[in-house]
Amino acid sequence: MPIKPEQKMDILVSLCKRRGFIFPGSEIYGGFANSWDYGPYGVELKNNIRNAWWKRFVNGRDDVVGVDTPIIMNPKAWEASGHIETFSDPLVDCKKCKRRFRADHLLEAKSAKPKYDKEKPADLKDIVCPDCGGKLTEPRMFNLMFKTFVGVTDDKASLAYLRPETAGGMFVAWKNVRDVVRKRLPFGVAQVGKAFRNEITPGNFIFRTREFEQMEIEYFVKPDQAEEAFEVWLKEMKAWNKDVLEIKEKNLVYREIPKKDLAHYSARTVDVEYMFPFGQDELYGLANRTDHDLSRHQEASGQDLTWHDPETGEKVLPYVIEPTWGLDRTILAVLAEHLDIDEAPTSKEKDKEPRTVLRFPAHLAPVKAAILPLHKKGELPKIAQKLTQKLRERGIVVEYDESGSIGKRYRRQDEIGTPWCFTVDPESLKDKKVTIRDRDAMTQERIALVDVPEWINEKLS
Ligand code: ATP
Repeated sequence: MPIKPEQKMDILVSLCKRRGFIFPGSEIYGGFANSWDYGPYGVELKNNIRNAWWKRFVNGRDDVVGVDTPIIMNPKAWEASGHIETFSDPLVDCKKCKRRFRADHLLEAKSAKPKYDKEKPADLKDIVCPDCGGKLTEPRMFNLMFKTFVGVTDDKASLAYLRPETAGGMFVAWKNVRDVVRKRLPFGVAQVGKAFRNEITPGNFIFRTREFEQMEIEYFVKPDQAEEAFEVWLKEMKAWNKDVLEIKEKNLVYREIPKKDLAHYSARTVDVEYMFPFGQDELYGLANRTDHDLSRHQEASGQDLTWHDPETGEKVLPYVIEPTWGLDRTILAVLAEHLDIDEAPTSKEKDKEPRTVLRFPAHLAPVKAAILPLHKKGELPKIAQKLTQKLRERGIVVEYDESGSIGKRYRRQDEIGTPWCFTVDPESLKDKKVTIRDRDAMTQERIALVDVPEWINEKLS
């Protein structure tokens, strides 16, 4: 049953809170603007996506290695990269209602309106407050980096920053990685971790927050390999969306950024946009950052950051192709993509009731299987607990649940996206079999108890 986009976000936010995916942060203290806690199922989903990414793009390849660099780095790195000077967004205030906006977002929204002349981008003069129609102030540039102090004094000498992206750490570590990996160009360095931005207008649930997680690759290439590598990574990003996240093609847009709108360091950028319930917006990005970062760090640090080809003796300052994935935005896209409401039979024969279901790909589901004994007492719970234990020993995340009617227990699992429920019933005592109930097809099938671990592993592989 299609869910109206304007309702989808509310349904998702309330499901996430009710079932323990995502809660408002610091809630007992009245919350803390745009911070979110990942609850028991949310953290499993997050781990599954992060692990799938690492397995595919780092462990699964010969040309990418991983690193884990600090959130707080030598501030000279951010000076060299240009972040201290330019990592800013234009901020405007409404003179009447005092609300704050990002001027570039207001311009984009205006230019995207039907019939607006795309060749003639909107001008700030044309724009008033979208909430109350009030006049806006002149834009001021606002730096997004969070400041902190390292050590016991909070003076200028101890000023440091929380990283606004994970990429910086990889450029700074490049020299050490280059020296140990024994690889020829092209090859990449990958990192997953938190990034922090003092966003002017955070919002849309976990879409834009001030603390978020990124999964990034800096893929170092010879300048003449850059265009080919860009195409390869674009294909990789498409395959990730389709094969790992199972997002429908029609919900994605690969938007080539026009030359005139490119960031100063980029020779080419493609924004990967998703049809979020609140509208089309950036999910991921892919950029050809040229040798911008390495040349700035080389100049500022005075270190030689070139790469020497041991066979040809050639010395080059590599170009960098940077595919970047936001982990929290991935979670939001996966939740939105796989949320569905359909109908399921009630306990009364032939009656149906609406059911909310998260149709996650099985390998991403927080819980892979639920083990449900039909009775609370006697032999059935013992068999069910033994099966639960056996699956846990094999590293499969399962839930044991003996409370409530079987229909209610199915519904609970449907809402958290568990692909399979295994019911232990009185027949099981005789035939040593269990009933598998499939989340999507709602069909039932019986298999031998001893075969359950293998059956699940096969489905997941
Ligand atoms: P936007 O235009 O939405 O502000 P950006 O172009 O500044 O994003 P990048 O600097 O390219 O974003 O960051 C790479 C990825 O990190 C983004 O594609 C997104 O998935 C994620 N990301 C960036 N900012 C945030 C944020 N404030 N909250 C959550 N995820 C974010």
